[in-house]
Amino acid sequence: MQATADIVIIGGGCMGASVAYHLAARRAGNIVLLEREKFLAMGSTGRNAGGVRHQFSTPVNIQLSNYSLDVIRRFQEIFGVSADYRPLGYLFLLSSPREIEIFKKNIALQKAFGVSDVEFLEPAEIARRAPRVNLEGVLGGSFCPRDGVADPNTVTQTFAKRARELGARIETETDVIGIETANGRVAKIKTNRGAIATRAVVNCAGPWAAKIGAYVDLEIPIVPLRRQFFNTSAVPEIPRDHPFVIEFATSLYFHPDAPGLLVGMSNRHETPGETYAIDETFHLQMLERALYRLPLLENARVTRQLAGLYEATPDAHPILGEARAVRGFYNCAGFSGHGFQHSPGAGLALSEIILDGASKTIDVSMLDLERFREGRPILEHNVV
Ligand SMILES: Cc1cc2nc3c(=O)[nH]c(=O)nc-3n(C[C@H](O)[C@H](O)[C@H](O)COP(=O)(O)OP(=O)(O)OC[C@H]3O[C@@H](n4cnc5c(N)ncnc54)[C@H](O)[C@@H]3O)c2cc1C
Repeated sequence: MQATADIVIIGGGCMGASVAYHLAARRAGNIVLLEREKFLAMGSTGRNAGGVRHQFSTPVNIQLSNYSLDVIRRFQEIFGVSADYRPLGYLFLLSSPREIEIFKKNIALQKAFGVSDVEFLEPAEIARRAPRVNLEGVLGGSFCPRDGVADPNTVTQTFAKRARELGARIETETDVIGIETANGRVAKIKTNRGAIATRAVVNCAGPWAAKIGAYVDLEIPIVPLRRQFFNTSAVPEIPRDHPFVIEFATSLYFHPDAPGLLVGMSNRHETPGETYAIDETFHLQMLERALYRLPLLENARVTRQLAGLYEATPDAHPILGEARAVRGFYNCAGFSGHGFQHSPGAGLALSEIILDGASKTIDVSMLDLERFREGRPILEHNVV
């Protein structure tokens, strides 16, 4: 392995690959990405539901979506390979006057930031678009037709491939085991395969980002939180272009995923930890709720169960930018369960922060690490 680099990226998920590509595209020097697994995308990126949406409740998340979903939609045109983007539309089911009030405000905000086609739906219109869904108790919905799903693996591998073609090096089976600083600045990355002298490191370690921060005595409030979903056998009554449905109150969601459906829900009682084991008790709760909202699921079989880790921050927003206490230490982590869809915009933003001193395309300055200590969290309603 080379002994020096201009910029070292830790973590080969969608974030690390996107950061590597955006830096390499700017000819930012000698760039190395380090991933401890044998392949890329084996962390959260390889265990996610593929959802992409504009419907967020803060300007920064909406702007990250606008930029990123446009790249995902035009992936074939930009990179010569399709990201398998399917604009199913996300349909949030709302079941209390309070939720309706919040979502109507969110729709106004999304429209103000250019999401012109997001709309509020009355129950009759929801029934027309999702006739098989049990709408008991549903008072309204929020729908954006350009939301949908795409393929995280293709996006990650393509960013990595282009980064390599542009001169970046990607070292797998390389575990970062320490970081040395000198005079308050990053100086050396220690790995199981030797050390690399550098003045800049980007922490793209997803659910493990806090451990990387600890190497330089930084407290990074990102915790791994298990989330799980399952796939079903074919459900012929649900067309392939059926909306991506989310019941906001419970976080139950489902969308077509060949040959059947992908169904997930967040366990709000989950405690931080790194396990990928399936919680069977929670699986049954999820199944029960799914059968309530989509009764014809009783004709399908569960074909696969999968658990992965959200990389949760206290305000469900990522941490992006250089740490004030350690110069040359940049974070691009903590996307709290919606990182795949924001990976194009986040990689761009981080590359601009390193090379231009600030993110110019999308203002992400409020996503600094220091906001937690300084009491500036950002509230996001639409993350479940
Ligand atoms: C069940 C589930 C469903 C999800 N659904 C969606 C969705 O629908 N839409 C969406 O946008 N997002 C979704 N997400 C979230 C999304 O998967 C993550 O936000 C995103 O993948 C984070 O990417 P990352 O690159 O930051 O982290 P990761 O993909 O976890 O990558 C981090 C990498 O760092 C490596 N690493 C860690 N420590 C070290 C070390 N010391 N040395 C070297 N390498 C190291 C790891 O091996 C890993 O490969 C979901 C997540 C889960 C778990």
